[in-house]
Amino acid sequence: MCEATQNQKKVVLVTGASRGIGKAVAERFAREGYAVALHYNTGKAEAEAAVQKLTSAGYTAMAVQADVRDSAQVQQMVDTVSHALGNIGILINNAGIAQQKLFTDITDEEWHNMFAVHVDGTFYCTRAVLPVMIRQKQGCIVNISSMWGQVGGSCEVHYSAAKGAIQAMTKALAKEVGPSGVRVNCVAPGVIQTEMNKLLDAETLEALREDTPLEMLGTAEHVADLVYFLCSEQATFITGQIMGINGGMVI
Ligand code: NAP
Repeated sequence: MCEATQNQKKVVLVTGASRGIGKAVAERFAREGYAVALHYNTGKAEAEAAVQKLTSAGYTAMAVQADVRDSAQVQQMVDTVSHALGNIGILINNAGIAQQKLFTDITDEEWHNMFAVHVDGTFYCTRAVLPVMIRQKQGCIVNISSMWGQVGGSCEVHYSAAKGAIQAMTKALAKEVGPSGVRVNCVAPGVIQTEMNKLLDAETLEALREDTPLEMLGTAEHVADLVYFLCSEQATFITGQIMGINGGMVI
């Protein structure tokens, strides 16, 4: 972790930044001059390696651990980041898990865990950063949902339901905190090449690519570009929106 120094740099907390989309988002903000906290849960080595790479290139970054299913751990994470880097001005709720299963085979535990990571996690992280944002009359939150939260994914009902809840949460909260100068948006990616899709074989990925109008699969960097845009000066009139990024698979 680098020193808590960097004075007036805007502070960004990205959850699930040990790899994949979260890591690409964190790297994008760091390269743009933000002070970035890369959150991880179990991927300490990966998160610390990403931080090391950024800090040795002169950027401001730190790694921070929490299980987003636990509100006390989330509060501790926010306190740690605020103490080290300053007040959090941008929160990216990205941590997530995936599971493919027939609906009738989903256990109580799997159902609740899916909601705990995505819905409880987004709630805990957002609730922990909002008071300062409201007090400062500025802030930006981006929730990472999924195209399955928009249209529903077969054999991913619990995932789709949790991602749909995140979209509803985005819209309601955007209305509530808009007058306080805080913007809340949601990004709904299609198929993005990360570890989350490592269970899909090459044939399935090729079929998905062919089903996509732009005939390509997305990258974490594609998503990072959109997230960055939504937090930029170019997006100051955008709030409460669900932005698809899926190569045209869902229109
Ligand atoms: P990934 O590579 O599997 O990374 C998931 C991240 O979430 C990891 O950093 C992981 O942390 C973290 N995480 C998981 N459970 C956690 C918990 N209980 N507490 C805290 N952190 C936890 O996934 P990804 O593909 O980058 O996905 C990122 C987000 O995009 C997810 O919300 C996912 O649903 C969404 N998304 C992905 C795709 C896609 O095609 N890849 C499409 C649509 C939406 P540790 O490894 O440190 O434990």
